[in-house]
Amino acid sequence: MRIAFLGLGDIGAPMAHHIAGSAHELVVWNRTAAKAARFEREHKSARAASSPAEAVRDCDIVITCLPSSVEVEEVLHQPDGMLGALRDGCVLIDCTSGDPETSRDIAAELAPRGIEFVDAPVSGGTIAAIEARLTVMCGGSESAFARVKPVIEIFGKKIVYCGPVGAGHTVKAVNQALLAVHILATAEALVAAAKAGVNPAVALDVINASSGRSNSSENLIPARALTREFPRTFRLALLDKDVDIAARLAQSVGVPAPMMDLAARLTREAHEMLGEEADHVEAVRLVEKHGGAEIRNTAK
Ligand code: NDP
Repeated sequence: MRIAFLGLGDIGAPMAHHIAGSAHELVVWNRTAAKAARFEREHKSARAASSPAEAVRDCDIVITCLPSSVEVEEVLHQPDGMLGALRDGCVLIDCTSGDPETSRDIAAELAPRGIEFVDAPVSGGTIAAIEARLTVMCGGSESAFARVKPVIEIFGKKIVYCGPVGAGHTVKAVNQALLAVHILATAEALVAAAKAGVNPAVALDVINASSGRSNSSENLIPARALTREFPRTFRLALLDKDVDIAARLAQSVGVPAPMMDLAARLTREAHEMLGEEADHVEAVRLVEKHGGAEIRNTAK
């Protein structure tokens, strides 16, 4: 099959790398052309295209992995965009963590040409992407899901059919809201413990053997905040976008969600404070600033 991959960012590039190593023919496109050119140099089986239209022409499967649904719409509709060049009958797999409503609009726009849309956002982070063991949550028709599953298996390990178009993006958004809640709440607990005179490393040791533990307390905060290393793997700006999708989703279906609303407000505040390039775990810096203490190991 011929596959196009658009968006060679932190997570998109390792996903595309695995497709380049498969039996399929791969064409890549990236807004910053130098990244696509480098990908082509590093992958003999891949070709870089100069526009979204050129990338998707004659492809059976097109994969997008862009910051949000806003950019997916742009890449579809811009003058040299995908829309006119998509082959009738192909499938568009959107691995962006997007918003369900825009995805339903895109699916409806493509349906008259027999083009199917599958929202397939991923989780597991860049390490799971490099190791081809991402979790992928899919929305679309069951027949489209069956058609694209073998391609998703190239970079995914746990692949879950969640329901009609938008269902994958819905699950991703609520997962991200939980991630933000866990990071912020764990940071509050540790800053309070630090201010009360307890070493945050000691508090974490206990929490991680007790009922307050989460992936944030067990992995993210010890490896990134306690060490003060804060490596960038997933931008805080993207988490901000995700939690906002979740909060608006809850509102649209009439579910009061004060926890999500607060997490969305604080994540936005942290994003504004720290800028576009900060990692998501750096949201703890906002809690540290408000609380006047840092999450660091104070043992001598
Ligand atoms: P990055 O910010 O690293 O990369 C974004 C990609 O989108 C780049 O290729 C960028 O191109 C491109 N892009 C940005 N704006 C536009 C535009 N206006 N038109 C066309 N292309 C554009 O993001 P990630 O790779 O980290 O994330 C991609 C998606 O995956 C997001 O929805 C994110 O929420 C999700 N995700 C990310 C995870 C992670 O660990 N990083 C984990 C799970 C999901 P350019 O190179 O020119 O900037």
